[in-house]
Amino acid sequence: MKLTEEYEDLRKTVEAFARDAVAPVIGELYEREEFPYDIVRQMGRMGLFGLPIPEEYGGMGGDYFALCLALEELARVDSSVSITVEAAVSLGAMPIYRFGTAEQRAQWLPKLTTGEMLGAFGLTEPGGGSDVPGGMRTTAVLDGNEWVINGSKAFITNSGTDITGVVGVAAITGRRADGRPEISTILVPAGTPGFTVAKKYSKVGWNCSDTRELAFTDCRVPAENLLGERGRGYAQFLQTLDEGRIAIAALSVGLAQGCVDECLRYVRERQAFGHPIGHYQAIQFKIADMEVRTHTARLAYYHAAEKMLAGEPFKKEAAIAKLVSSDAAMDNARDATQVFGGYGFMNEYPVGRFYRDAKILEIGEGTSEVQRMLIARQLGLGDL
Ligand SMILES: Cc1cc2nc3c(=O)[nH]c(=O)nc-3n(C[C@H](O)[C@H](O)[C@H](O)COP(=O)(O)OP(=O)(O)OC[C@H]3O[C@@H](n4cnc5c(N)ncnc54)[C@H](O)[C@@H]3O)c2cc1C
Repeated sequence: MKLTEEYEDLRKTVEAFARDAVAPVIGELYEREEFPYDIVRQMGRMGLFGLPIPEEYGGMGGDYFALCLALEELARVDSSVSITVEAAVSLGAMPIYRFGTAEQRAQWLPKLTTGEMLGAFGLTEPGGGSDVPGGMRTTAVLDGNEWVINGSKAFITNSGTDITGVVGVAAITGRRADGRPEISTILVPAGTPGFTVAKKYSKVGWNCSDTRELAFTDCRVPAENLLGERGRGYAQFLQTLDEGRIAIAALSVGLAQGCVDECLRYVRERQAFGHPIGHYQAIQFKIADMEVRTHTARLAYYHAAEKMLAGEPFKKEAAIAKLVSSDAAMDNARDATQVFGGYGFMNEYPVGRFYRDAKILEIGEGTSEVQRMLIARQLGLGDL
């Protein structure tokens, strides 16, 4: 994938925004575990929440790769901000754009694309996230012209902010002839009676992002809140997650690059045994390895995005990109912390934040084991 002038302009704009508007304030917000409302407002004005969505819905009319470039640049400075955009666009707005009716698009997209409202996607349940059909207990039953939803969801990003507008909830709506659950997605507006949002989890990282458990108790929404066709929920989320993996790969590359950026600055300043620590080959090699991982991971996500935009199958490439990039982020965060020595363990330095933020990348939107399962299946090993 070659960066055209348009992509490069976007990348530079987001790079400058992250440096000038996010970097100076994010450390304190992170310490206080505060959702970055002001940053979200600014990103809304820049159009970041509508990057891959057509202008008729208030979007920027770009594509999914443009979103990935923005996520990478944000994550170079902070991952909570980046995942807030990723979840809002990739998991919140895109399914409505892809699968929604004209009315659903008109109702939700203009507010989601401008960041006035955030969307969320509730798939994972307390009983399991990797084996979605096996772990799903949430049900939605059609009663007259309303769906009645009962159940709960775990770890849902953007689901409980002051500006959360709608959550796409995956629920069992029946049984198929072969006994497997029929899964559909239903749009539940924030504030619907029977829909409750628990307090924020206390997390290891991503401390400025909003992650909650959700409960549905006889929660009623109109029948027309079904997203796309009944029984297509499983297929919808597989498609959503395939794209989402490229987005998480981009975010991971951003974190990996942020580690390189921080180390390049630090090793020129920090002195030991009469030299800047960057003088020593052990440190130089560590940084060289970090650069190699970042570069390789970036190529992997650019390649997956290129296939996706060309309309070619990209499941395997997306899984490879997510696996390679999340490993790169984790390895770089560990090495960067080592390069910073004791200061690497202090929250006032970004690398400490990168260290805490890296681990989730090997878990969210499909664990590394799930990526390997997907790759093996694409190699024809699924039926052995
Ligand atoms: C901060 C955060 C934000 C999130 N945001 C969202 C969101 O917005 N929406 C949403 O729906 N979900 C969200 N998630 C959920 C996330 O996608 C799941 O945590 C993830 O998919 C893993 O599911 P699980 O936690 O249930 O782990 P499990 O599925 O219980 O897996 C536990 C372990 O077993 C391994 N495992 C499972 N099956 C196999 C197998 N067959 N072979 C080998 N190993 C296996 C897994 O890889 C993992 O290591 C979020 C999670 C976090 C932590």
